[in-house]
Amino acid sequence: MTQVVLASNNAKKLAELRRILEPLVPGVEVLGLADVAAYPEPAETEATFEGNALIKARAALAATGLPSLADDSGLCVDALNGMPGVLSARWSGVPRAEGGDHANNALLLSQVGDVPAERRSAQFVAVVALCVPGGAETTARGEMPGRILTEEHGAGGFGYDPLFAASGYDVSTAELSPVDKDAISHRGRALTAIAPAIVAALT
Ligand code: IMP
Repeated sequence: MTQVVLASNNAKKLAELRRILEPLVPGVEVLGLADVAAYPEPAETEATFEGNALIKARAALAATGLPSLADDSGLCVDALNGMPGVLSARWSGVPRAEGGDHANNALLLSQVGDVPAERRSAQFVAVVALCVPGGAETTARGEMPGRILTEEHGAGGFGYDPLFAASGYDVSTAELSPVDKDAISHRGRALTAIAPAIVAALT
C-alpha cells in the first residue's frame, strides 16, 4: 500500500477527496492531517488557487516526507467579479467551527440579492497540487459552471453547495448524491486530471 498525504482539515472536503481519489489511484492509502504528526499549517497567502494549493502541499511534504496533495478551491461569482474566489472559506470572517458555512451563504445571498437570474452565473474552481520527494511539483485545475440560487436547497455536500446549481441541473449540488456530484464537480475534474501524475509518482 502506498501512502499519500492529503493536506486538509476540512472533514467533508477530505471525505470527498478520498472518495474520488481511491478509485483513480488503486492501492493508494490516503492519509489526512489527523493521521500524521501535527505540524504548523501555513497561511494561504497567495492570490491564486494554484499558489495556495502549492503552499499547502509543500508544507505537508516538508513535514511528512511523503508525497503530498492539497486542494485549494472556491466559488467564483461573475456578478462579484470572481469573488469570493480564494477567500471563499473565510468570506464572512466566521470560522468554519463556529458556523462559517452558514454565515458565508447568508452573506453571499445578501450580496447577490438584486442580481437578476441571467446574471447569476458562477463557477466552482478547484486546483490540486502534488509535491513529491525530490522536488517534482504538479498542479491540475477543474471547474464546475453553474448559477447562484435565490435560497438554500438541500442538506448534502458542504460550503456553498445549498446555493449552487450546476449548469443543466434544476437542483443544488447539496441535493445531488455524492456519486453524482463527484462526476461533474470541480474537485472530481481536477483529481481526474492529476491522477496519472500521482500514479507515476508512486510507482
Ligand atoms: P479551501 O480550499 O480550504 O481554502 O476552502 C474552500 C472553500 O470554498 C470551502 O470552505 C467552501 O466554502 C468553498 N467550496 C469549495 N469547494 C466547494 C464545494 O464543492 N461545495 C461547496 N463549497 C465549496
